[in-house]
Amino acid sequence: MPGSRHTPPKGTRTSERPSGAGLAISRPSPNLAPSSPFAVSSSSVPTGPGSVLDLDTHDAVTLKGIAGSPGVAVGPALVLGDLRSSFVRRHIHTAQIQTELDRVQHAVEAAKSSLRAVDAGMPIAMREATGILDAYQLMLEDPTLHERIEHGIRKEKQCAEWAVSIASEEIVAMFGPRVSSERDAYISERRHDVEFVCDRLLRALVGEDTGHSVRLDEPMIVVARDLSPADTASMVREPALAFVTCVGTRTSHTSIMARALEIPCVVGVADALLQIRTGDTIVVDGLTGQVFVHPTPQTIRDARQRSEQHLAFARQLLSARHKPAVTADGVALALKANVELPAEAILAVDHGAQGIGLYRTEFLYIDRTTQPGEDEQYEVYRAIVEAVSPQPVTLRTFDIGGDKFASTFQLPAEMNPALGLRAVRLALKQPEVFLTQLRAMVRASAHGDVRIMVPMVSSVHEMREVKRLIAQAVEQVRARGQAFEEHIPLGMMIEVPAAAIMADVFAKEAEFFSLGTNDLVQYALAIDRGSESLAAQASPFDPAILRMIKFVTEAAKHRGIPVSLCGAMASDPLAACLLVGLGLRELSMEAAAIPEIKEAIRRLYVPEAEAIAAQALECDSADAVEELLARELAPRLIDLLAGIAEDSTISST
Ligand code: PEP
Ligand code: MG
Repeated sequence: MPGSRHTPPKGTRTSERPSGAGLAISRPSPNLAPSSPFAVSSSSVPTGPGSVLDLDTHDAVTLKGIAGSPGVAVGPALVLGDLRSSFVRRHIHTAQIQTELDRVQHAVEAAKSSLRAVDAGMPIAMREATGILDAYQLMLEDPTLHERIEHGIRKEKQCAEWAVSIASEEIVAMFGPRVSSERDAYISERRHDVEFVCDRLLRALVGEDTGHSVRLDEPMIVVARDLSPADTASMVREPALAFVTCVGTRTSHTSIMARALEIPCVVGVADALLQIRTGDTIVVDGLTGQVFVHPTPQTIRDARQRSEQHLAFARQLLSARHKPAVTADGVALALKANVELPAEAILAVDHGAQGIGLYRTEFLYIDRTTQPGEDEQYEVYRAIVEAVSPQPVTLRTFDIGGDKFASTFQLPAEMNPALGLRAVRLALKQPEVFLTQLRAMVRASAHGDVRIMVPMVSSVHEMREVKRLIAQAVEQVRARGQAFEEHIPLGMMIEVPAAAIMADVFAKEAEFFSLGTNDLVQYALAIDRGSESLAAQASPFDPAILRMIKFVTEAAKHRGIPVSLCGAMASDPLAACLLVGLGLRELSMEAAAIPEIKEAIRRLYVPEAEAIAAQALECDSADAVEELLARELAPRLIDLLAGIAEDSTISST
């Protein structure tokens, strides 16, 4: 059965749970200390008399998705996009036209001020990274939008909500039909922007009418077709209990962000918008990938118990986070953090990261109207470097394109953007934009241990061109008399099969490697990393992937250059143990996973990991590898795999 590749530890989860990227055993993550700006606790769910959790009489429904971020939450749903169907469509009299137009104007102001409030509530570094909120404020004034709303009110005699809803549908229709793939990434981003802005307008109108705002004024579970990085970032200060989305996999960016924010999340729930209505009580189990709609009292009790157990276990793991990552036989590993938002750098240190192994700088470019300038980038990089110093920071040059689209680049429409103008290819096509980023990185090197890493390299020519441009950036910075470090190590991602197979050659061009298994799996197995239906087959345990990892690790060792792995598999306890057996001594993952991976490593002996890895390399399928791991390693990792411990085996001393 897809998604149940190896025998699950008894009684910890259902055997049908689909698992993104083929990671068939879920992984927990410690929740943050309550003082953290990201802290969200399911214990804040209201439970007293009159609570929004009052049970209704609907039949219980269980939806299956992909466990995107661990944790269990119980609460009322807030279905984004649901507003267009939830207000009363009423015709107005001519005498009411001006009142409705005025209501729209007030709603625009209210929506703008609510966006400003979200903006002001964010940490400064994150605010800079999400210039999208400024863009949304501008879009609220958009003349096309207002012409259509006014037409609806004056000519069609529609109430304000109705006119806004129709205007939104008309503008979205101008982008053409929706397609399910990422093929129309740019279009879907624009469509999403229009829907988001109109949704804010409707919320303001509904709030004005009923006095009941549907902003997250109370802890709610956000249900949406998809959540953009801006949506997710704007939830940081909102009491979001959990996320449920119709699309996505464990390696898609909603999951990555949710794990970074430590919010339970289930993605790829195809029927979520059909089955869930705003106000419905739901249970989101980010450990098993299940969503329970109209749960029975028993399901709610079980969920609360699981949530408490998970949080208690996560706190235990967190208390041991600063212990070194050393195997039971004394071999030390370096565990670093992957960071999307600058504010996560502090979080990384707090979770025991030994530096930043991957800073995805493309998030600086996404969801905004203009590209970030050199000074803006420099300040962000500098803040990260200083927050983490003296530990190293690996700044990855922008990986735009594919599943990470940024409208400011005006990317051409391509049949398959994942195979198109993306990452380093795009950077080399737009050398001025690239040089701006490189200068900012070079300047940041004056403040700590900076390394530069290039994504999606597929030919040595690309590495040589990047080196030429870095030399140019260095000369430009030098000519201005600005400080920088003379030697900045330059490394590359190994995430394209061509680079993996040529690793021995690339080892002469790069000063370090980082294996990007999210993309390596996508390109080697020819499975879109965003495909929910194929998620179970897109397994990093596929022997083809393991052999590439082994080859790359050997090639790096042979040449004496460091090699790390920063794909999502590093944050899976079983996979991490296997990677140690394959020879890796450095892993980079979302900060939240570091304490549990440290714990998994402490329970491992290197010779046995090597013996298991040798057997895995001889397996004929991902299923066989997962069965091997389930047999040899899962019994001692059961608590880590389930995210819940019955008897604690973790010592913080
Ligand atoms: C990867 O591809 O494994 C990776 C770490 O990069 P990203 O997820 O940002 O594409
Ligand atoms: Mg990648």
